[in-house]
Amino acid sequence: MLIFARREVHGSVAAAVPQVDDTQDDGNEAANISKATQLYNSGDVKGAVLYLDSLEDGKQSAVLKSLREKFYNEYRDGTVKKTRELIKNYDYKGAAALLTDLSSLSGENDAEVLKLLKMCEDFSVTEVYTGAVEHIFFHPLIAYPELAFDGDGMQRGFDEYFVTVPEFKEIINELYAENFVLIDIRLLYSADENGKVTKNELLLPKGKRPLVLSIDDLNFYRYMKKNGMVHGFAINGEGEIVTYTDSTDGTRTYSDDNEIVPILEKFIEQHPDFSYGGRRGIIASTGYEGTLGFRTDEMDAPDYPERLQKAKQIADKLKDMGWIFACHSYGHNSPSKRSVEQMRRDCDKWIKEATPVLGKTDIYIYPFGELIKDNDPKFLYLVEKGYRMFCGVQKSPYIRFHGSYVLMQRRNIDGISLKDGRVKDILDPSKILDPLRPKTD
Ligand SMILES: [Zn+2]
Repeated sequence: MLIFARREVHGSVAAAVPQVDDTQDDGNEAANISKATQLYNSGDVKGAVLYLDSLEDGKQSAVLKSLREKFYNEYRDGTVKKTRELIKNYDYKGAAALLTDLSSLSGENDAEVLKLLKMCEDFSVTEVYTGAVEHIFFHPLIAYPELAFDGDGMQRGFDEYFVTVPEFKEIINELYAENFVLIDIRLLYSADENGKVTKNELLLPKGKRPLVLSIDDLNFYRYMKKNGMVHGFAINGEGEIVTYTDSTDGTRTYSDDNEIVPILEKFIEQHPDFSYGGRRGIIASTGYEGTLGFRTDEMDAPDYPERLQKAKQIADKLKDMGWIFACHSYGHNSPSKRSVEQMRRDCDKWIKEATPVLGKTDIYIYPFGELIKDNDPKFLYLVEKGYRMFCGVQKSPYIRFHGSYVLMQRRNIDGISLKDGRVKDILDPSKILDPLRPKTD
């Protein structure tokens, strides 16, 4: 993490043994260290910083300065953590108050704190948003274009339905520049216990445009792993989500720069006003090759409990980061080609195998974006099972409320939409399209 990583501390508290400093009387310094450490040990970290600051300027020794830095960083990390919890509850005023207090200790020296503070102040002022709500979706990114665009029979599919890493980065740059802010889709609707769905009034920070983002098929399918997509998620030593990719010689490469989740995370650290309420997006998962790269579909496997535990650890981390999950069907079959019975089984299987990992969801993202008529027993079964928000794919997106469900149409951001110009109203494809894409006539 770039912004809130604990900084290197030069020296340590254990160095509470005073060192010689000719600007300071040794006895005084020892007393000062002892007093500050006492405050710190009593849990008053801020008091310890303030005490050190109260000592005469310019006369602080290196030991006192490093002690101050350690205490400040600790207080800062704790405060930023609290701030994040408040932001999750949309309490930007509360967050701004904590950051104002923090900035009184850091002055102009902590640019990240000031940036976060400004965002919290700006986001404290909201207004009712009445315009269109943009919902875009991606497939997992092409991390290794040489494998996706290798001239095999699948190349065309990757060219049409996927984007590369540089393309995704440019896309979020452009959306951010257009004042879009990521929102939680659940801000848009409420569902009561009788299954009645109503439209919510959408309050947004002044001047911001709402953006829902979803990733379909983030399951690390075998065919994707062979064709240039990363192989799975892991949690690194700092507790952050990274990707891994295994090579044929058995080595594993980790990266925080080749899939949507970590790339978006770094972007939001730099641009905290790209996320409202700390939200990220929706991960739409199938079940036929397990969830999140773990074969949790093999519930009889002897090591199923370990697989479940590992998959759940990733899922829980993603939720904590602001991601939510949606059902993308179990088998990714075209609904119109399935019988009612097959659809029911598909739905039940997803609930049985995927919910232990991902949790319950009322969001259903149609495979192939193919809608089912709302008087069709297949659809009624999905509603019976608790799905309320249904998402398809359309050139011109819309959201419609139907009493027992909502239909929200999304736009695909991929080779097709970037090339045919249909997303020109929000993106400039000429700046986005990757020169590594295969040449087409
Ligand atoms: Zn799909």
